[in-house]
Amino acid sequence: MQLTVVGCSGSAPGPESSCSCYLVETDGYRLLLDLGAGASGPLQRYVPPTAVDAVILSHSHSDHSADFTQLWRLRLVTQAAPLPVIGPSDMPEVLRNNPDCWTPSVAKPGLLTMGPITARLARVEHGECWATRIDDALCYTADSQPCAALDELARGCRVLLAEASGFDADGPMTGHLAAGDAGRLAARSGANLLVLTHLRAWQKPADLLAEAAELAGCPTILAQQGLRVAL
Ligand SMILES: [Zn+2]
Repeated sequence: MQLTVVGCSGSAPGPESSCSCYLVETDGYRLLLDLGAGASGPLQRYVPPTAVDAVILSHSHSDHSADFTQLWRLRLVTQAAPLPVIGPSDMPEVLRNNPDCWTPSVAKPGLLTMGPITARLARVEHGECWATRIDDALCYTADSQPCAALDELARGCRVLLAEASGFDADGPMTGHLAAGDAGRLAARSGANLLVLTHLRAWQKPADLLAEAAELAGCPTILAQQGLRVAL
């Protein structure tokens, strides 16, 4: 199984990366986690738009969902079968109104079998937002402040893909993890690798990395567009 970071910028695209989008591939199956602003462009470096098998959308904010409009356009010119999308009940209009392109279904807690992948979803603290666990390999926090549901979902995962949207010094963040929160979550979960993502263009990535790495108890790296991690 392999993780590819298609986009890792938080809240708005940055000069080096589109917003959140992650490709998980195993046994020829291709699952996307989120499709944020700008991500449909670099996505085409890694997978043809018609070859995505399913998408899990964490929540409907544009930095996680904006490029469904562009993916719809890219798929429109093909005969691709409708793409399953699992996501929040308030999915963007483009997902609700194009049954020829998508088969949307509302996320719920618990196990989800998608081809060779067993995913588990948990509702976390950021409006209606869903974090995803893929087998024992990967836990993606999406956007959330620290919470019991996230702790439970991350426990025992090998790779923790966690947002780092600010610093401990800024005080508790509503609806987001600070870099320190990501580090502490990695330590509690026993992860082997922490990958920091949702990096905001106005913050210094090296400082986020330093804060998280000191607390994580495991190797810690920054996501960047094109990063590949064997899971
Ligand atoms: Zn976000």
